[in-house]
Amino acid sequence: MTATEATRDAALRRLGAFQPRMGRDYAELRNFDLGAGAHDHVSTLSPYLRRRLLTERETIAAALEAHGPEAAGAFIAEVAWRSYFKGWLEQRPQVWDAYRDGLARDLAKLERDAALRARVAQACEGRTGIAGFDEWAAELNETGYLHNHARMWFASIWIFTLKLPWRLGADFFLRQLLDGDPASNTCSWRWVAGLHTRGKHYEAQAANIARFTRGRVQLPEDCLAQATAPLDAPLPERQALRPVSAPRDGVPTLLLLTEEECQLSDFAPERLDLRGVLGLKASALRSPLPVAQAVCRFEAAALEDSAGRLGAEPAWDAAGDPVGLVRHAQAVGAAQIATGYIPTGPLHDWITAASPALEAAGIALTEWRRDWDALVWPHATAGFFKLRKQLPHILSQAGLT
Ligand SMILES: Cc1cc2nc3c(=O)[nH]c(=O)nc-3n(C[C@H](O)[C@H](O)[C@H](O)COP(=O)(O)OP(=O)(O)OC[C@H]3O[C@@H](n4cnc5c(N)ncnc54)[C@H](O)[C@@H]3O)c2cc1C
Repeated sequence: MTATEATRDAALRRLGAFQPRMGRDYAELRNFDLGAGAHDHVSTLSPYLRRRLLTERETIAAALEAHGPEAAGAFIAEVAWRSYFKGWLEQRPQVWDAYRDGLARDLAKLERDAALRARVAQACEGRTGIAGFDEWAAELNETGYLHNHARMWFASIWIFTLKLPWRLGADFFLRQLLDGDPASNTCSWRWVAGLHTRGKHYEAQAANIARFTRGRVQLPEDCLAQATAPLDAPLPERQALRPVSAPRDGVPTLLLLTEEECQLSDFAPERLDLRGVLGLKASALRSPLPVAQAVCRFEAAALEDSAGRLGAEPAWDAAGDPVGLVRHAQAVGAAQIATGYIPTGPLHDWITAASPALEAAGIALTEWRRDWDALVWPHATAGFFKLRKQLPHILSQAGLT
């Protein structure tokens, strides 16, 4: 994994280095997992995109510039998967709530059930004896990255061969992945399980693994569960995208920096009546269990870099008691907090918990939502292919074609 320097400069360097491969090379070779240190045919841009050190729009623009819409089509579609999952979860936040609550139940069961605890530990530490699976666990623990195909195989083996609770696997990924994202991760695990596209799940096959690891991982066919059935649960009803209140000029403001948006400079916050800047470290909210140090370090460096580009010297805090946010705002005399849009996930839960105290103190929480999100999310109502059909139109509306 090369994306370990959490700066916008590093993101742009990686974007430039991968740009020549965003066309036919990506279309033909992206599904090959060549192993740790050899992920040459995928971009490894995900930790940057997740925090918007780099935006989807500028990543797609780079692909179009180098290859045009046809040859870059496969790469653009993959970037669009990210926006799709984000938009889908925004419209079904109950799925996140159910994941979070279900995970708490799974973890309580783990406390009580020593045999299950031992099996989960074996899987997370790469001690199952299943070739490939154990190496992917080790790669994830060591680098904070896994190739997309490896994530699919890993999740499938976790759920269907090892028969472990899917939420514990999703939690393991969220704690270890530098790009760990509540929408992409939860929805992808649900997709593998058969809960996202109901009735359709992903079953890892030894032949497919051998082919797409170029023979590196050889498994006896009967080592993996065969003819498995998808998990099943009804989908909650889709909700309207939540309304967004944008920051108002002339109001004393606390600028809130979070890893959800590391390019606040795009919104020209300097035009506001800024009284203070707060950098909030929130990676620990990803899970009730300890989150990998590398993830926390990446977030901290990304926030430092983001503050530096704003010319700000923020106060720093970790997302502990949500009421702490009110105290920060009051200390600088702010009547509004301005921040990048906080999508469904742990930070949104945290800020929602702060809302009553903010309201009582007369402090408005305001957000900037990117035009890209406003354009793409309304299309994320059902399956990805519905959105994919709209991509030419979306790219044209975004001024990219
Ligand atoms: C079980 C499972 C869990 C996952 N968890 C996460 C997660 O927590 N965070 C995350 O960003 N992605 C997640 N993904 C999606 C995907 O695996 C990663 O985005 C991708 O592997 C990142 O590597 P890359 O930057 O080299 O991707 P590239 O192939 O170079 O793609 C470019 C960008 O497009 C986006 N992208 C590509 N494929 C997908 C996809 N299938 N879904 C969503 N976005 C995609 C990413 O932002 C990525 O950086 C998960 C997939 C699975 C199967």
